[in-house]
Amino acid sequence: MSAITADTARRLPKAELHLHLDSGFEVEDAVRLAEENGVPLLKEPPDAMFDWEDLQEFLTFLDWVLCLPRNGEQVASLSYSLAQRQRRSGVSYTDMMVSPIHWKNFEGPLEEFIAAVASGLEEAERDGCPPVYLSVSISRKHSRAEAHEVLDTMLAMGHPRVVALSIDGNEALVGRTGDRFAPVFKRARANGLGIRAHAGESSGPEGVWDAIDLLKTQRVDHGVRSVEDPELVEELVERGIFLNVCPWSNVLLGLYPDRESHPIRTLVDAGARVTLNTDGSGFYRITLEDEYVTASEVYGWSTDVLRRLARTSVEASFCQDPLRSELLAGIDAFDFGD
Ligand SMILES: [Zn+2]
Repeated sequence: MSAITADTARRLPKAELHLHLDSGFEVEDAVRLAEENGVPLLKEPPDAMFDWEDLQEFLTFLDWVLCLPRNGEQVASLSYSLAQRQRRSGVSYTDMMVSPIHWKNFEGPLEEFIAAVASGLEEAERDGCPPVYLSVSISRKHSRAEAHEVLDTMLAMGHPRVVALSIDGNEALVGRTGDRFAPVFKRARANGLGIRAHAGESSGPEGVWDAIDLLKTQRVDHGVRSVEDPELVEELVERGIFLNVCPWSNVLLGLYPDRESHPIRTLVDAGARVTLNTDGSGFYRITLEDEYVTASEVYGWSTDVLRRLARTSVEASFCQDPLRSELLAGIDAFDFGD
């Protein structure tokens, strides 16, 4: 079969689950905020700031760009523009993450930051953008007490836009942290929040085992290195764990040399419940429709497989009824024109 077109991929109802506001800036967002705050650009022309030669250049850029937003209005403008991008890509629902630890120049307490992110999403939805809900991330650099404090704030706010606790950070640097954060995740679950965890990217299979056994998450962000442990893949299939996979991000940041060698095909063939995502559509300059088109090209997936990926994206999301049922029905009825 031939690959689907970008237009078909855009029209297909779908959710995006693995997307960070922290890497969701576009060049125009960065230029606008730098101008507003009188901060010189890292490179000219501005596009060049988004071309990194190596990891160090990427980290330098990350540090620069996340220090740009200083007040609630600027933060809200970024979440608003991310929701607009989701509309352009035909994304019907998004579970977006934000990791407050990165936003070092924000002049206010955590609740003000979270409220600002949420207000941009709410305004975007009022203006016709698809719903984007929020998972707040703790960092693996946090102590257990600091992580509890983040959760305290989330629970005290009880904000209807905040649906889950998430965790990210480089496990290759900090090692295994499942024991440290297990009580925090337990408390989040007990208080009705959803939970999700990054694992199996900077960590190998052991990180995924910790995420499902210690943090007890049903939703693993990345999880691709599970493929190195066949017993783990069997377990993921058996327990119906969702893997929110971002193929281009993994290639761009050097985890795999190219899309052909990316393990997503092996995971899908094994029966794992996989979703397609961009991770950071702004920074990585990729759209979700590109991911669907490229997956159909590179892996030769039939429209049945693509429909299943879209269906899984809704099933794995924190999206509630009636939208959830509407999206699933829309996916089942979708005409690929094949
Ligand atoms: Zn991520």
